Amino acid sequence: GATIGILGGGQLGRMLSVAASRLGFRTHIYDPSELPPAGDVAHLVTTAPYEDSDALFAFATTVDVVTYEFENIPTLTLDALEDHAPIRPGREALRVSQDRLVEKEFLQGLGLKTAAFADVPDMAALATALPQIGAPAILKTRRFGYDGKGQARIMDPTGAEAALAEMQGAPAILEGFVDFSHEVSVIAARGLDGAVACFDPGENVHKDGILHTTTVPARLSASQRTDAVLLAANILNALEYVGVLGVELFVTPQGLIVNEIAPRVHNSGHWTQNGCVVDQFEQHIRAIAGWPLGDGKRHADVVMENLIGDDMDRVPELAKDPATALHLYGKAEARAGRKMGHVNRIAG
Ligand code: ATP
Ligand code: MG
Ligand code: MG
Repeated sequence: GATIGILGGGQLGRMLSVAASRLGFRTHIYDPSELPPAGDVAHLVTTAPYEDSDALFAFATTVDVVTYEFENIPTLTLDALEDHAPIRPGREALRVSQDRLVEKEFLQGLGLKTAAFADVPDMAALATALPQIGAPAILKTRRFGYDGKGQARIMDPTGAEAALAEMQGAPAILEGFVDFSHEVSVIAARGLDGAVACFDPGENVHKDGILHTTTVPARLSASQRTDAVLLAANILNALEYVGVLGVELFVTPQGLIVNEIAPRVHNSGHWTQNGCVVDQFEQHIRAIAGWPLGDGKRHADVVMENLIGDDMDRVPELAKDPATALHLYGKAEARAGRKMGHVNRIAG
């Protein structure tokens, strides 16, 4: 059978590997760390840095297609792989989603709403931008932020300097504070043939900057639901995307505002494992393998809850609940803030 190469061996790579296996594929995980969570379930594992050209070449010769579980793949890695195997989703999706400034310009170019933003390479630029955007505002590093890391709130102009110091010299973008009622996300997929399918939008609650729960159905009107699906399709088509994409949205009285996109399976799509016939992981594998997209229709109401750090102590209790599906990542050390697993609770 064909082999799917996956850059990154965390929990997303692990769940992609399981889904691929179920469809008869082999998987080859590439990750710099020893014993990545996906290593347990993959057929092959390469442990090497992302900049190791020889290891990348050897990896590429074993796979039929390359995908990834995170968006910060170095350019050098992609250069080394692209002549040997197709990279799906393609490089344009990575280029756009690796940099918050490029991402916001791309989204606005599609006619979509984003928070007000400004490029702030230095203090002078921040001093100019802050009165235009207004406080409160959020300063974010352009690259490498996740789980709310690399962000600082500016409540009033006196806090500007301290916020910029928190960026530690990294290029940053200033965002106007969006007064949203709640947050939702759309997990969408596009096949090699251009077909598009969206999962039902989920409503997301964050705790300490990390996703805490996703609830489906989300609180959305019929027209908001349509808007969410259409804007996701707009993004997929513009990128000539192949695979699953996560689109994070703010719900406001003025409409849906796009927060950010993730060119991969997404934590807020984990509910699909127990709420749909075909979940986001299988959908992604289907898309990148050139298969038809599966049926992502929601057949249950679900609340997904992340198990972070010592939430793992609750596993014996959770395991007793027949309406709760447990998904654990096999990580040895339950460090604070570390995603250890999640549960999907089926309402009934
Ligand atoms: P992720 O783990 O989802 O990749 P991240 O580190 O990339 O997160 P964002 O998604 O940009 O960070 O922001 C994290 C959260 O902070 C958002 O889900 C939202 O709750 C809040 N937030 C971010 N930007 C804004 C904004 N402009 N206005 C209001 N709230 C915001
Ligand atoms: Mg992000
Ligand atoms: Mg986010």
